[in-house]
Amino acid sequence: MVESIKYFESGLEYLKGVGPQRAKLFATELDIHNIGQLLQFYPFRYEDRPVFTKIKSINYDHEDAVQILGKLIYIEVQNTSAVERLVCGFVDNEGGEAEIVFFRGVKFLLSRLKTDQKYVLYGKPSFFREKLQFSHPELDIYSPDQTLHSFVPIYHGSEKLRKQFVDSKAISKIISQVLPTALNYVQENIPQEILLKYQLISRKEALHYIHLPQSKEQLVNARRRLKWEELFYVQIKILHEKTNRNTNQGFVFAKTEVLNTFYKHHLQFQLTEAQKRVLKEIFLDCRSGKQMNRLLQGDVGSGKTIVAFICILLAIDNGKQACMVAPTEILSEQHFISFTEMAEPLGLKVDILTGSTTKAQRKKKLADLENGETNILISTHAVLEDNVIFKELGICVIDEQHRFGVEQRSKLWKKNKTLAPHILVMTATPIPRTLAMTLYGDLEISQIDELPQGRKPIITVHRGEAQRNTVFAFIRGEIQKSRQIYIVYPLIEENEKLDLLDLKEGFESINRAFPEYQIGIVHGKMKPKDKDFEMQRFKRNESQILVSTTVIEVGVNVPNATVMIIENAERFGLAQLHQLRGRVGRGADQSYCILMTKSKINYVSRQRIETLVRTQNGFEIADVDLKLRGPGDMLGTQQSGMLDLMIADLAQDSDYLKEARNEALAILEKDPHLTAHENLPIFIQIKHGKPERNNWGKIS
Ligand code: ADP
Ligand code: MG
Repeated sequence: MVESIKYFESGLEYLKGVGPQRAKLFATELDIHNIGQLLQFYPFRYEDRPVFTKIKSINYDHEDAVQILGKLIYIEVQNTSAVERLVCGFVDNEGGEAEIVFFRGVKFLLSRLKTDQKYVLYGKPSFFREKLQFSHPELDIYSPDQTLHSFVPIYHGSEKLRKQFVDSKAISKIISQVLPTALNYVQENIPQEILLKYQLISRKEALHYIHLPQSKEQLVNARRRLKWEELFYVQIKILHEKTNRNTNQGFVFAKTEVLNTFYKHHLQFQLTEAQKRVLKEIFLDCRSGKQMNRLLQGDVGSGKTIVAFICILLAIDNGKQACMVAPTEILSEQHFISFTEMAEPLGLKVDILTGSTTKAQRKKKLADLENGETNILISTHAVLEDNVIFKELGICVIDEQHRFGVEQRSKLWKKNKTLAPHILVMTATPIPRTLAMTLYGDLEISQIDELPQGRKPIITVHRGEAQRNTVFAFIRGEIQKSRQIYIVYPLIEENEKLDLLDLKEGFESINRAFPEYQIGIVHGKMKPKDKDFEMQRFKRNESQILVSTTVIEVGVNVPNATVMIIENAERFGLAQLHQLRGRVGRGADQSYCILMTKSKINYVSRQRIETLVRTQNGFEIADVDLKLRGPGDMLGTQQSGMLDLMIADLAQDSDYLKEARNEALAILEKDPHLTAHENLPIFIQIKHGKPERNNWGKIS
């Protein structure tokens, strides 16, 4: 075992065809530092090369590359008008003849190529003066066991590597040279019963076939086994961390005094069954003596805020402070207002701290927080700074967490000198189950799977420029029913100037079309004070139309707004469209979402728009999104580290993920610390496997 680890951790510089210079490039360009990593550098595709073609069967109109077995009959250097080239004659065993021409690497080739040696030629045929010709084909010395290699592995490379003559073919050669030795050191890392149960081939076979498949079947089996293994270890790692962490002590919140008062006398509506259920789950966590790390998923408008508020009261009842972190200032401002409304009658002090808090205000706020005067702090990233000190933070709710970086969240853990606060992460981003299992496998998950009563489905339609007048007439009709309207424009950084222009032109044309109404505008480039002014005006129905960018995408709650118009909807992502639509349909009135696009849109945009028109189910939308975009994109680059899978694909391999997760759970249930003898290979694998780029498992 030790020998095997040592072998796989040894560097590449001593391998044939590598050397120190190329070894360095492997490290810097491909992040491959040792033999173990080289072996796990899987081909990203395979060329299905047919068996040997006969030269006589190649026609003028032959377009595909061919593979021919034959030998060189002459090798000549020709000098024509200062251009040096190498010309070789090539015949196959039926006497078919072709000419091979090389313009580069003449000297090198001249020293290597030999007549009468059997070669396998691979290249695209062309005809020059009626003669069959190959220019710069691949020429490999033929060895009999190669005849069946019809699947040629293709590896990713880099420009710098290619300059050092390390292309896909060279990588393949290096790998196939170490493979015979390396395979001797390969140890099985999945228990035998599991291999049998799921008909998985051994690790040794898989690593062999993934690099040098001799048949389609071998390739399929190798890929399945390696995908399964990868997902299995993702799950084992996350779940193992969780087991270790579950021993983290946490505050015990048993008293519920203010909470009861609020619940009985101040709550404006009946909680839904789903809200009650998740509250129960959270209360159990907070009473267990262990630190809570829970993810609360609930579609837009499902009522997560009130759940957060009630949990916060629980912390306060038990002598602690609470904090709610939002991704934008607009959202924290909104939470500040609604929390103040609810908390003041209970005699609690709510405060807000954001990036635009002035220095003078800040000093007082920080002092209040540290001496315990402030019960609830609403904040943004600003809370993470070291000088923001709580007397004792009992719970931290993170609203719309996917906007919040991973490392940032780990800082919250350290806010207390005593125990880490309970953490509740809330998100409306409907994360497909497969993704959730991978990203949040270590969190407990609660779901609000029901909307408050009386909500009508939002009517969603797709309209083009030609129908703008009808759309405007519709807007007017809705405002006359005293409803309010959002009109959202895309604004992306790369195109910021033009987008802002678009937004302002849109704003002006709306102003011209609706002179009788008040129209507000908000975008990210405005001063926070001005943004806030416009938001409050809209909230109080002093403006009827709000023209904005996606700054209102997340969390904004103005129940009287019933129409969401999205301009250039083809430019938004699906998750974003769903979030934006979620700004309406928050009250009892019928709401509408109108997706405006130009007349011609591409396939992917059309799929997105059709999906949105068809369904309001966040999970269905997320699944389509995952398929259209791929998981790396889903949650932004911050989190793609975890999704840095080598071979598995979350969009395609969800079945394997489920199987792997179940097996991982079963193993850890029996042997939580992986100390049993039969689990030694698993233990070793997680200690010595691919180094993690970030420590997802450790933080919420
Ligand atoms: P989200 O889950 O998107 O954050 P919010 O918490 O903003 O949703 O709630 C959306 C709206 O629904 C708010 O106006 C809120 O007051 C209201 N709401 C929440 N729970 C209920 C309920 N049980 N019954 C009626 N309305 C509710
Ligand atoms: Mg919300």
